[in-house]
Amino acid sequence: MKIAVTGGKGGVGKSMVANSLAVEFARKIKTMLVDADAECPNDHLLLSVKRKKYKTIYQPIPQFDYEKCQKCGKCAAVCKQNAIIFAKGKYPAFVKDLCIGCKACVVACPYGAITETTKEIGTIYTGKNYGVELVSGELKLGELASGEVVAELRKAADEINEKTKADIMIIDSSPGIGCPVIASLVGTDYVVAVTEPTPSALF
Ligand code: SF4
Ligand code: SF4
Repeated sequence: MKIAVTGGKGGVGKSMVANSLAVEFARKIKTMLVDADAECPNDHLLLSVKRKKYKTIYQPIPQFDYEKCQKCGKCAAVCKQNAIIFAKGKYPAFVKDLCIGCKACVVACPYGAITETTKEIGTIYTGKNYGVELVSGELKLGELASGEVVAELRKAADEINEKTKADIMIIDSSPGIGCPVIASLVGTDYVVAVTEPTPSALF
């Protein structure tokens, strides 16, 4: 069974609920806690776990071949992230930090001047304490693709769980309604939404 713990606002006690549930479940059944708050993971601190690196997460990014580029600007026109800056008569300039790896520019280039390479966007860690198997995802400082990190984290958690065979998986999501939260909630059986009696926490 998979239970996601989420909430519209940070600081309402979401991680405390997720960790408390995990520790209580672990008294009786095999339990895995997935820390999917990739921009600020802290479940390892709450569980006093010294995390070990499991794998690095990479994201595709474009690589420009300026010998093939005809300065048409189509790559910049399709980039919704504004990660490609184009001025007429100049080669496109790529702003790596803004790229989310959608590959639209690779498809749009009519001259085959864009191929794919990768950049590191995060790390997945594992650890264990109080009988809880922890799998934790962390976005690399300065990167934006937290949704991709959470999607990879969920895959890694399922992969690890093929060996650990946890009876229950609790996913501690980030707050809000963005891509990382959607990636946390996909494929879960139940969602626990944590809130507090303040105006900003009601949304
Ligand atoms: S891969 Fe997507 S986000 Fe990145 S530069 Fe190309 S179009 Fe922009
Ligand atoms: S779409 Fe291709 S040819 Fe056109 S500016 Fe971009 S890289 Fe150059």
